[in-house]
Amino acid sequence: MSALAEFRAETRAWIEANLPPGLRGAGTVFNGGRKTPTITPDALRWAEVCYERGYTAPTWPKEYGGADLTADEQKVLREAMLAANAPLPLGGHGLTMIGPTLLEYGTEDQKSRHLPNIASGTYRWCQGYSEPNAGSDLASLQTRADDHGDHYLVNGSKIWTTGAHHADWMFCLVRTNFDAPKWEGISLVLFPMSDPGVTVQTITLINGSQEFCQCFFDDVVVPKVDLVHRENQGWAVGKRLLQHERMPSAQRTAPPALDGIAKRYAGEADGRIGDAATREEVLGINMDARAFQLTQRRAAEEREGTTPTFVTSMFKYYNSELLTRHMETLTRMCGTQGLGWDGTAFTAEELANTRAWLRVKANTIAAGSSEIQLNIIAKRVLGLPD
Ligand SMILES: Cc1cc2nc3c(=O)[nH]c(=O)nc-3n(C[C@H](O)[C@H](O)[C@H](O)COP(=O)(O)OP(=O)(O)OC[C@H]3O[C@@H](n4cnc5c(N)ncnc54)[C@H](O)[C@@H]3O)c2cc1C
Repeated sequence: MSALAEFRAETRAWIEANLPPGLRGAGTVFNGGRKTPTITPDALRWAEVCYERGYTAPTWPKEYGGADLTADEQKVLREAMLAANAPLPLGGHGLTMIGPTLLEYGTEDQKSRHLPNIASGTYRWCQGYSEPNAGSDLASLQTRADDHGDHYLVNGSKIWTTGAHHADWMFCLVRTNFDAPKWEGISLVLFPMSDPGVTVQTITLINGSQEFCQCFFDDVVVPKVDLVHRENQGWAVGKRLLQHERMPSAQRTAPPALDGIAKRYAGEADGRIGDAATREEVLGINMDARAFQLTQRRAAEEREGTTPTFVTSMFKYYNSELLTRHMETLTRMCGTQGLGWDGTAFTAEELANTRAWLRVKANTIAAGSSEIQLNIIAKRVLGLPD
């Protein structure tokens, strides 16, 4: 038996022995920390056993909580998890954004202090990028970090910070030079949300959820050991982090399947969607989704071990637009039943779909809007003039 085949057999047996039965097929992913009210004991246990084996961050070096897996081994692990219908043991901004950024840009001290806590899911991280007057034009940010010798004092505000009320740490873009051109006066710093200078207010969204916050900083103390890379060179680091954020994830929660809904609401004939135009529309979306899934998988395999590039903007753009098309079609097919907010006239599934339809609109804005992704593709991928 080859080493890889042996690894596959071992991994499958290990997953069977350790995956809590209740987690099979579970859609939600544990994002780290202990403040999120929805974490279940099973999800915590799964993250814990996977961490002990280095499987929450499988390609990270062992000394930082990973398993040092090769690209091929990681692929085998991913396939084994999918085959067992196991959820990702860990997700969140720590594992997917600041973790890989620290691996590339962090000091040895930052890696050994932060990465094991990320890989173990001990802490949940949030992203302090957007400000009330700096979203798409992120480089205009005004939150300041003033130099006080061995530390900075951070003052200002961030907005749309996902999960800040449940987070333990923030990675935050701040201005450290107000005289330089705007891209050259930015730094990336890390600080705990427990600092007395941090105030967090939740924002209620159109779909009723409260996943976003506005954060206010009043003399937040950041020791200089938590400046990532170099002062005033945070723009390059911050952009790399965005590329990690925009990377297609191997496992995303799939939107509700269209076929069954189409048959129920638009009619069924001979076991197929009755109306030919609806059938064609659903077929088109399903084919595009499948083609995209395969392209994502190929790209993930081809880039193993390498850093992401501007090309991730293409995936980010296509994914959000496809998801929007899917949910718009679903809502239209349901007619008035697709617009329920509450009350007994709607099923639980219909009410959930309305919320999912509204939520999906946020995907075309989060991590940089679709228009901004098109700008990046035009300039950085296709090389078109500014
Ligand atoms: C679900 C979600 C999660 C988020 N989580 C976080 C988070 O955790 N941390 C964080 O820091 N931020 C977060 N954000 C904020 C997000 O990064 C910003 O909303 C986004 O960058 C857009 O900025 P804005 O809202 O200020 O819109 P604006 O920048 O004001 O843009 C308004 C509109 O103008 C368009 N536009 C702007 N400039 C251009 C241009 N040059 N060319 C063409 N069109 C343009 C935009 O595409 C958009 O349609 C989140 C947002 C969402 C929706």
